[in-house]
This record gives sequence, C-alpha cells and structure tokens, in this order.
Amino acid sequence: MNNPIVIRLLSQRSSQQCKRGFRCYPIRSFTSTRTHRQIRNWESDEAALQRLKVNQGRLMDELHHTCQWGTGKPWGVAATETGMSRLALSDADKQARDWFVETTQSLGCSVQVDAMGNIFAIRPGREDGPPTCAGSHLDTQPSGGRYDGILGILAGVEMLKVLKDHNVQTAYPVGVVNWTNEEGARFPISMVSSGVWAGEIPLDRAHNLQEVGGGTATMKSELERIGFLGSLPASYKAMPLAAHFELHIEQGPILEAEKQKIGVVKGVQAYRWYTVEVTGREAHTGTTPFSSRGDAMLAAARMIALSHDSARKHSALASTGILTLTPGSVNTIPGAVRFSLDVRAPLDSTVEALEKEFKEQFAKIVSKESTGGLAVEVNWQTDSVSPAIHFHEDCITAVREAAVSVTGKEALVRDMVSGAGHDSVYASRHCPTSMIFVPSRNGISHNPEEYTNPEDCAIGAEVLLQSVLRYDRQRAFKA
Ligand SMILES: [Zn+2]
Repeated sequence: MNNPIVIRLLSQRSSQQCKRGFRCYPIRSFTSTRTHRQIRNWESDEAALQRLKVNQGRLMDELHHTCQWGTGKPWGVAATETGMSRLALSDADKQARDWFVETTQSLGCSVQVDAMGNIFAIRPGREDGPPTCAGSHLDTQPSGGRYDGILGILAGVEMLKVLKDHNVQTAYPVGVVNWTNEEGARFPISMVSSGVWAGEIPLDRAHNLQEVGGGTATMKSELERIGFLGSLPASYKAMPLAAHFELHIEQGPILEAEKQKIGVVKGVQAYRWYTVEVTGREAHTGTTPFSSRGDAMLAAARMIALSHDSARKHSALASTGILTLTPGSVNTIPGAVRFSLDVRAPLDSTVEALEKEFKEQFAKIVSKESTGGLAVEVNWQTDSVSPAIHFHEDCITAVREAAVSVTGKEALVRDMVSGAGHDSVYASRHCPTSMIFVPSRNGISHNPEEYTNPEDCAIGAEVLLQSVLRYDRQRAFKA
C-alpha cells in the first residue's frame, strides 16, 4: 500500500444554484483565504493525480471476465473475440449485476438499487454529500459488442480499484452507476431508467414496458424476478449526483481517422424525426406518358436526395430509414409514398433551418413545373423533437485537462459532439455532466466486431479517473 493521498477539503459550502439552474455542490473561493500550506497541497495534488495509473491488464482481464455472461457471436479465433448478447434484466444481466454489486462492495462502496434497478455504488469521501459518479450501462444489443456501455462501467470499477490501491481519500463521495436498459433493445425505450431518474419518463410507463418479441415479461416483472427492484425511489431527488462522467466508445470513425485518442464530448446533437407523405395518382406504367403522371415515388426520391445534399452542405445529417409505397406493383406508378426523415446537427438552429428549407424545397418538387406532369401533394408530420444537449463547462474542462494530462499531447485530444444518445443526456438534466470518447475500430458499434484496443481502453479509463478526481478537487478548492 502506498502512502495515503488525501485530496483535501478546505471548507464546505451548502449547495447552491449554478447559472444553469443545477443544484451544484461547490466549493469555495480559493483565492481569498488560501495559505502557502494550502497552495502546496494544491500543487502536490496535481502531481499525485498524475501518479495514479490505471492497470491496463487488470482492466481488460476484468472486462473480458464479465463478458462470460451473455457472450455473443465470435468474430475471431481468440476466446475474447466475440460479441455480446446481454439483454437488460436477463439472467446474464443479473449475473453481471451481481458481479458489479459484489465487486464494488469489496472495494469499499455502499450499494443502493432504485426502483428501476439502477445500481449506485458509492465510495465515501472525507465529507458527506452527493457523489461524483462515473456511469454507463452493462446491458447490450442482442448482437452487440464488448465495449458499448461495458467499458464505461468497467473503467469505473478500475477507478475504484486504483483509489483503493493508493488509499486515496476524496473530498466527497465518488461512485459508479449502472443504468438499466440503456439500449432499449429488450424494453423498447432507450435510456429509460436514467430517464425515470431524471423525472422525464413516468415510473409506471417504464415498469409496464413489455419486452419486444411477443413475450409477456415487463420491466417490473423482470426486475422482481432477478431481485433488482430496489426500494430507493428512482429519482434525482432521492439519489442526487454531484456530477456524471461517462466513458464510452465513440461508435463512429472520427478519432481513428484523425489518429486521436480522446474525444472531449461537449454535448449531444439535436435531432428531429418526421414522417413525410407524398400523394400522387396511380396509373399504368405502359400507357401513361411522363407528361400525364403524378408519380409519388419519383417526387419522394427527389426529396430524399435533396435532403441528403442539403444536410451535407450544412454539416448536418439526414437519413431515411423507412419507406413504404402503394400499391407496390411493377407496372403501376405509385400513388402514395410515406417515408421517415431523421435530421441531426450539433445546433438546434441548424435543424430548424433545414426543416424550413426542406419544406420549401419539397413544395417546389411536387409542383407541376417540377414534375413535368401532374402536381402531387406532400404532407409533413413531426414525430419527435430532441433539442441539442450542451454539457457542463466544469465537467468538459475536467475531461479536457485529464485528457491532455494522460495523453501528454493536445493534438491527441479533440472536442466532439455525440451523434448518439446516452444516459449522460438524462443525467445532464440534473447534474453537471460530460463524456469521454475513445476510438472505435472502423467506427463499428452495435455489432459483434465492435473493438477498442486495450491501450485506448486504458487511456480512456485513466481520463475518467482523473476527470472524477479533478471534479472532486474542483468541488473542494475552487469557487
Ligand atoms: Zn452505450
């Protein structure tokens, strides 16, 4: 055991509203009352922080150990070269959860389970207060990989081990959260349990979610069956967090392509989903000249092509994943087409501008002048609006400083906006939050071949560890 490292708390102040309206738990003015002795502590803390190293071999061994529960399809010859199939609240998920509870308890944590089966493992600090947490999820897609979610939890557990190895005493509690059914693969709302914790999804609705595939199990019945229906209310009020940091694989190609190691995640992009209906006139393909056609499919195809071109110009994304047409006959011009349109961009204003532009352009596409035949009709329905999420500057700063400290080079670190949703979205509604991305091989995720190399996993875990400690230190030292 090394000498104890004490992350000192100099004073306490009760919680206060920060400028974003969170109940934040700082901290006090460092400048007004610091002494030489305190300054020395501050400086030695920085050096101490950098001496805390993640054990890469231990991290990866433990990660693969937990992948014995819910092992999926092989993609290579080695025992660890498989995907994962660990649906939320399945027997395999229960085994992984049992491991998480036992392991974190053995590392000195108290463990609480809430009414959504979210597990909070909390390691005490010198002072009481809400914990600064690392959080992610142990559930996977039915044909998922070994890193999505799992790496975030395992890095959190490695953090607890490093703190224990070095006898680190944090100013306030720190912890690890396993959020239930993040994937939404078995119970079809993703991030449902962090959503209940955030007060944005009603508990009853979540409990009554029925498993996909025609089974009769609900979230509540499965929570009961595997013994994870906790007595703690699933709410940020019953379990407030001081901050939430999530290490996650990028699930995209950017870090790998740019040969960078860490993405400092500043937020999550905005998206809107629409259903577009195009109505024309059914007619015989052999007897109807172009000048007499009202071809709904041709108009829809032009709309889809236009949406992609236009989104590209705005550094946004547009996608059509569902398309149906009637009557669906080889020799009948389609009279009706319905397609989905998913529009995403880092800023709400970009998504709004694209919506406006699409509406104007689609109206032109259906005009007689444009079709060269009959006019067709277009109607829009907005199905979902998800505003951009902007993470908290204090957490982003902690991650950036940690990333530069761990990698040793600013060039290996980039700011990013997440393209996918994560539990951090809901966490960010009630506590300062940020995320850390590590490279995904070939940008692949939700696939057995999802892979992040051990070195990158360890770098990410060390950035997570430092981010949590930097935030804890910030709480203790900085106004
Ligand atoms: Zn995930």
